[in-house]
Amino acid sequence: MARCQNTWWRNCVDTRLLDILVCPLCKGPLKYDKQAQELICNPDHLAYPIRDGIPILWAEEARDLDAAPRDGTGAAQ
Ligand SMILES: [Zn+2]
Repeated sequence: MARCQNTWWRNCVDTRLLDILVCPLCKGPLKYDKQAQELICNPDHLAYPIRDGIPILWAEEARDLDAAPRDGTGAAQ
């Protein structure tokens, strides 16, 4: 897209990434959570992890947003 030329290429990549990536369950768009490094599907309330820059778009790997958050050490799982 033309607007990519006016922004950081990194942001451009992120935006284009989100254009391509959809939820494997509902085929809806995913929201990129930069802090958590997750891709969020609002309709399904799932968060897909991004590992080493690679989005893991498997429902089995996704985190349930409705589940009670474990305090602090979520990486232990
Ligand atoms: Zn979904």
